Amino acid sequence: MEPGIYTMSNRDLNVKDHSIEKKRKYKREYMREWRKKNKDTQKEYRHKYYADKLSKRADYKESVRKYNAEYRSRPEIVEHKRELARVYWINLSDEKRERLRKRDSELSRERYKANPDKYREYKRIERLQNPGVNYQKVKEWRLENLDKFREQKRRRRARKAGNGPVENIESSKIYNRDNWRCQICHKKVNEKLKWPHPNSASLDHVIPLSKGGSHTKQNVQLTHLKCNASIGDRGIKQLRLFG
Ligand SMILES: [Zn+2]
Repeated sequence: MEPGIYTMSNRDLNVKDHSIEKKRKYKREYMREWRKKNKDTQKEYRHKYYADKLSKRADYKESVRKYNAEYRSRPEIVEHKRELARVYWINLSDEKRERLRKRDSELSRERYKANPDKYREYKRIERLQNPGVNYQKVKEWRLENLDKFREQKRRRRARKAGNGPVENIESSKIYNRDNWRCQICHKKVNEKLKWPHPNSASLDHVIPLSKGGSHTKQNVQLTHLKCNASIGDRGIKQLRLFG
């Protein structure tokens, strides 16, 4: 220790400075009184303090969220995650992979049902951004499922017409129901003839969609393609033309 520099001794610590004690007591009492008198001001202070704290916290959270989003969208991170998923998928047992696939398809079906417009819009944008990617697949599916494809087109047309309920109609069931007999000319329809042969089977709306008819089992019948075409939208039978 350097000589001449004053340091606090034990004796100093034990001596109570009465003047300081008095001042402290006075201040405590003064503050107590002040708080009693200014309750509202205090409340205001407190509210301001916490509001400030909350807004700062929100700002911080927002900045973290932004950073995370930016991080996740970095191409190398996206690629890394994809790679991890790929490895995970490859290492799964066949049974588990099948289970997950099933669960995913159910989930996506539920999501679609909950908000069909959103997912239709999403698919539309995807198609616009990747023209021709799925077209080949769609084409193949249509060739393999011609009946279903035609029914899709009929339902779309019916939805556009907006004449009440639109049923999913299996044309073959209607053909069997009508015993393969044309409901306009009452002659037999050859099952083997395919569209666009004029004598091939065709699904006809009894009351046309344009006249307010609905796409329901009650409002459809089996006809020859030529008989169906002869009626058209006018709803006038022109059987004589075909004998
Ligand atoms: Zn006919």
